[in-house]
Amino acid sequence: MAERTPGFDTLALHAGQAPDPATGARITPIYQTTAYVFNDVQHASDLFALRAFGNIYTRIMNPTQGALEGKVTALEGGTASLAVASGHAAQLLAFHTIMQPGDEFVAARQLYGGSINQFSHSFKSFGWHVVWADGDDLSSFEKAISPKTKAIFIESLANPGGRVMDIAGVAKIAQKAGIPLIVDNTMATPYLCRPIEHGANIVLHSLTKFMGGHGNSMGGVLVDGGNFDWSKSGRYPLLSEPNGSYHGLKLHETFGNIAFAIAARVLGLRDLGPSIAPLNAFLILTGMETLGLRMQRHCDNALKVAEWLSKHPNVSWVNYAGLPGDKYHALQKKYCPRGAGAVFTFGLKGGYDAGVRAVSSVKMLSHLANIGDTRSLIIHPASTTHSQLNADQLKLAGASPDVVRLSIGLEDVEDIIADLDQAIS
Ligand SMILES: *Cc1c(COP(=O)(O)O)cnc(C)c1O
Repeated sequence: MAERTPGFDTLALHAGQAPDPATGARITPIYQTTAYVFNDVQHASDLFALRAFGNIYTRIMNPTQGALEGKVTALEGGTASLAVASGHAAQLLAFHTIMQPGDEFVAARQLYGGSINQFSHSFKSFGWHVVWADGDDLSSFEKAISPKTKAIFIESLANPGGRVMDIAGVAKIAQKAGIPLIVDNTMATPYLCRPIEHGANIVLHSLTKFMGGHGNSMGGVLVDGGNFDWSKSGRYPLLSEPNGSYHGLKLHETFGNIAFAIAARVLGLRDLGPSIAPLNAFLILTGMETLGLRMQRHCDNALKVAEWLSKHPNVSWVNYAGLPGDKYHALQKKYCPRGAGAVFTFGLKGGYDAGVRAVSSVKMLSHLANIGDTRSLIIHPASTTHSQLNADQLKLAGASPDVVRLSIGLEDVEDIIADLDQAIS
C-alpha cells in the first residue's frame, strides 16, 4: 500500500508533537527553562558554532517552541519555521534577515493597520524603506520595484477584511525581479490558503489570531518556503556572505533550503531578542489542534452573517469575498476554496456616527482590537485601529468613516445575527 499523505486535521493534531521522549507525556510539556545542560565541552562548542543542532538558551530555542514550529511548518508546507513573541516580531525578523540600511521593499497598501505603522515609521530607523503598491493592480508592484528592492510583502486575505490577493500573480513579478515574496497568512491560516503552493517564498503569521484562536496568547511565526536562492544575486549578504559572528560560516551554503529560518533565529532572534514564552507556545499549540474545525465554522458563520447584512436596510454595502457578487469572489474560489475567512467589513448608511453607535450598542459581541477569537468581535477602524492614518490612507486601506469590521466567532450564528440586529437597527 502506498504511503498516505496525512490530511490537514491529522497534521494539525500530530505534526511536531511526538510523546515527550523523557517522560512519555502525550502532550508536549511547557519546557519552562532558560538554559540546557551540555553533554561536554565539545558538545557546547559544536552548538555555539552551529556544527550541531541542539538547545542552548531559550532566547534562541526551546522544545515547546520547537513543537509549535514543527506543526506550522507541516501545515504550511514549508521547510522550517521560527516562532517568536508576536506577529510584528516575525515581520521584524523576516526583514532583518534580508534587508540592509538603504534597502527598499514593496508592500501592498491593503494591510493590517499595525503593519502600515511598523513599515512606514519604525522600520525607517533601520534604514529600510517601504514603497507602496496597490494590491488590486499587479502593474503597480512592477512599477514600485527598483534596484534597491529586496522583497515584496502582501497579506493573502487582506485587512481590514474581505479582500483576496492574487498571490500567484504577485509571485511571478517577484520571481522575475529575483526577490522573495513574503505573504502574511494570518487571516487565512493554512486551512484556507497555503501561499507557498502559489509561489510565496516566506510565510508569516500573527499566531495571536486564528492559529492560537482563543484570544489568550501573543505569538508570531515565520515559515521558510525553502524555494529561494539566497546566494544567486549576492544581494542577501547575511545569508550568502561569511558571517563574522560564526567563524566565517556562510549560512545559505551550510543550511541550504532552511537557511532563511536558521538565519532569522541565530542572527535576528539571537540579537534582537523577541522570543516566545514557552507557555504561549503551549497554548497556541493546543489551539492549533482544532484549527480546521474552527476555521470551517468561522467561515460558515461569517458567510451567513454577510448574507444577512447585505439585505439589511441600514447597511449600504458588505465586502465579503464569500458572497457570489463580490469583486474578490473569483480569487477566493482560487486561493481560499474552503471559505473566505471570518473577518470582513460592512458600511452603515449613517456613516461615522452610526459606526460608533453600533460598537457601543452590541451586547454579546466584544468591542475590541483583535481578530480570530472564538468569540465574535466588532470594531470601528476609523476611530481605533486605523485612527493614525490620514483621510487618504483610510480610504486606501479600506477603513473609511462608515466602515465597521467584524471577526465572526463560533457562537450559534442566530445569536450573532440577533445581537448585530439590535445594534444597527
Ligand atoms: C495582528 C496582525 C499582525 C500583528 O501581529 P501581533 O501578533 O499583534 O504582533 C500582523 N498581521 C496581521 C494580518 C494581523 O492581523
